[in-house]
Amino acid sequence: MPELPEVEALREFLDEHLTGQEIARAMPIAISVLKTYAPPLSALDGAAVTEVDRHGKFLDVTAGGLHLVVHLARAGWLHWRDVLPSGPPRPGRGPLALRVALTGGDGFDLTEAGTTKRLAVYLVHDPAEVPGVSRLGPDPLTDAFTRDAFAALLAGERRRLKGALRDQSLIAGIGNAYSDEILHTARMSPFKPVQNLTEAETTALYEALRGTLADAVARSRGVAAGRLKAEKKSGLKVHGRTGEACPVCGDTIREVSYRDSSLQYCPTCQTGGKPLADRRMSRLLK
Ligand SMILES: [Zn+2]
Repeated sequence: MPELPEVEALREFLDEHLTGQEIARAMPIAISVLKTYAPPLSALDGAAVTEVDRHGKFLDVTAGGLHLVVHLARAGWLHWRDVLPSGPPRPGRGPLALRVALTGGDGFDLTEAGTTKRLAVYLVHDPAEVPGVSRLGPDPLTDAFTRDAFAALLAGERRRLKGALRDQSLIAGIGNAYSDEILHTARMSPFKPVQNLTEAETTALYEALRGTLADAVARSRGVAAGRLKAEKKSGLKVHGRTGEACPVCGDTIREVSYRDSSLQYCPTCQTGGKPLADRRMSRLLK
């Protein structure tokens, strides 16, 4: 799933390629992709793109005073096309979900792999009309996101670190991958309760969070849209690397699996060498 750094890189890429261009047509291909009815997508016909913005993991293309807001979800992606096929795309079982054609003959496709369709597109007058956007917490890349602002967000928080960091309404843009990376850099267990953090640990977590995201954004910057996923994977130290050696200490990276996701961590770096209980593994072993 693309998270803040990849969506930020896509935003920069689109801002460069899209701003100033005129939309010929926006075509929904998959039935479920468009989540709004009014205004219709045809309201974008002939509209010039004035800005490309990001809210957490949402992309926001402003054209003709309207906002085309895109959430790529777990398996969605954006493909830039220098030359779009001239014929109309055929609806079907393929990954193509929505196409935006520009009057210059180029444009982009939104695609979604797999059978679970979660990619969502909204056409609204104000991005705050999108429920996922209006609920977002502060963006961790902004100057206002200081160590003290972070500490204030965590005050009264009863959850464990992993769940809190991934909550979009607490902090915008961090998902499963970067929460694993931040906790590994901070040398903290994903299951550590937020309320147990000392002042020094809050500072360490804040620095790991800002550093991890800033590094990932710097790495992704200027990388072509098509190569961003590979670039993201190559920069991850523990996420998705179960069984590999921790690049810091050499211990074996372990995982905790859930029904439809998993988290990875290094026992030596993060949990005092103790493996965390993995409910799925213990259930399988019964
Ligand atoms: Zn380690």
